[in-house]
Amino acid sequence: MKANIKSKPTIFMIFGGTGDLAERKLIPALYHLFLDSYMPKEFAIIGLGRTDYNDDSFKKLLLGGINKFSRSGKAEKDKWEDFSKHITYLKSDVNNEADYKKMSSLIDGFEKEWSETPIIIHYLAVAPNFFPIIASNLAKVKLADDCDRTRIVIEKPFGHDLQSAKELNVLLKGIFAENQIYRIDHYLGKETVQNMLAFRFANALFEPIWNRNYIEHVQISVTEDIGVEDRGGYYDGSGALRDMVQNHILQVLCLVAMEPPVNFDAEEIRNRKVDVLRAMRQFGPDEIRFNTVRGQYSEGWVKGEKVEGYRDEEGVDPESNTETFAALKFFIDNWRWQNVPFYVRTGKRMHQKASIISIQFKDVPHLIFPNQSSESWQQNRLIISIQPEMSIRLQVQAKRPGLDMTLNPVDMVFNYDGTYENETPEAYETLLLDAMKGDQTLFMRGDQVETAWDLIMPVLESWESKKSISFPNYSADSWGPETAEALIAKDGFHWFTMPIKKADKK
Ligand code: NAP
Repeated sequence: MKANIKSKPTIFMIFGGTGDLAERKLIPALYHLFLDSYMPKEFAIIGLGRTDYNDDSFKKLLLGGINKFSRSGKAEKDKWEDFSKHITYLKSDVNNEADYKKMSSLIDGFEKEWSETPIIIHYLAVAPNFFPIIASNLAKVKLADDCDRTRIVIEKPFGHDLQSAKELNVLLKGIFAENQIYRIDHYLGKETVQNMLAFRFANALFEPIWNRNYIEHVQISVTEDIGVEDRGGYYDGSGALRDMVQNHILQVLCLVAMEPPVNFDAEEIRNRKVDVLRAMRQFGPDEIRFNTVRGQYSEGWVKGEKVEGYRDEEGVDPESNTETFAALKFFIDNWRWQNVPFYVRTGKRMHQKASIISIQFKDVPHLIFPNQSSESWQQNRLIISIQPEMSIRLQVQAKRPGLDMTLNPVDMVFNYDGTYENETPEAYETLLLDAMKGDQTLFMRGDQVETAWDLIMPVLESWESKKSISFPNYSADSWGPETAEALIAKDGFHWFTMPIKKADKK
């Protein structure tokens, strides 16, 4: 495999190297970066965990993960062997200070071998309660203080609420500089999400109409067809608002609504995104019930199989008040978006897995066609599908072929699969490469995370303090509670859904 000679030697310290995230996402992503010659000549992946592995048995675990989860299927023997030479396992407990000294000497060994100071990326793929202890212990053995070569990647969730997010920021910033902290939101690594920047700011066509004069409303819908699976215990303490809205959905919303940045600099782009969050209207106590809907799934049938209701899932409180569905109507108080509603929704056990942004334009000012011509009339709509289909569709009216003047909506489609031959990289490939390069554009800054928490805190507090009497209120394999339809229908709109043809990708 050709190495990327321009990249500096790099060490990935994967805390939680034996866990699900490492096996399913991180190692397959690093393997693909290696196959595609993005990895430097000198690199090391150090897996950390308490489980009793040696290098060989650890590598066996990771190979199993690649064979199961890699986008290119089973690893080829010689390529895997080349890659796996770079993997080491260090049995260690994050609470044990002495283990950090072992980490330090391992790193020193590589440094001597390579005769060069490596970039060190501490990837925290562990439960959030370990973030503070790991950061503090890294500082004690001086594995944190080199601003240029040491980085820390923090997985989601970043905090449980505004207060805990602030506390974590204070702790991290006491040890690391902001340019060392990479708060990950893997949604931002997705091709279609990144393409929002290209689509908006590399084309002259859309920006002039990207405002309240032409856009009627925006929808962002992130629905999942699965339930909580084996994450019931974790999810019951979290819920849809924390799990999806505070991070992924608000980040996507920022990309739709941000002002044009003056350049492609990470700070500039992140500044423009924070501007959006700061301009979003916070709900007063009386506004929450008119602008938000929460739901929880009951049992139902999915593809002919009976599935359990949320409260019967393993690890979930049988009287749980946790929402598995959330829909909210936001406004952004600035010149561009005044009075344009942004509807967002997310839910588990929904009819379809799909992440879609729908931008509906205002109607024509005057309709010249007779009524019978325009029975299936649809205002222009731009639909950006993030997953499973990766596409952008512009819906326009066209004359149907025939002797009558009959109009119907048709799609002008840009589809990634049909347009590009290369396989699309996984979000984690993009993000890990950016962390190696020191590019923070797709990572969240401390103030961004706090502003997003600040926005949703009134809703969280209201939902937690008032137990829902209607839960469970939607059945598995449905489109969520009826009240979610009403939230948007009372403004004269309906939720956009798209026929999904392709098998889903996680
Ligand atoms: P997991 O499968 O439960 O793995 C947890 C890891 O933490 C294991 O490697 C475990 O290793 C390690 N660990 C636990 N206690 C430890 C200790 N005292 N000392 C050293 N290591 C310890 O969890 P996960 O699903 O990988 O998730 C990890 C993090 O990523 C979480 O913050 C999660 O929210 C986030 N995340 C996960 C996913 C995903 O797809 N899984 C997606 C997005 C975000 P040992 O048991 O060997 O000690």
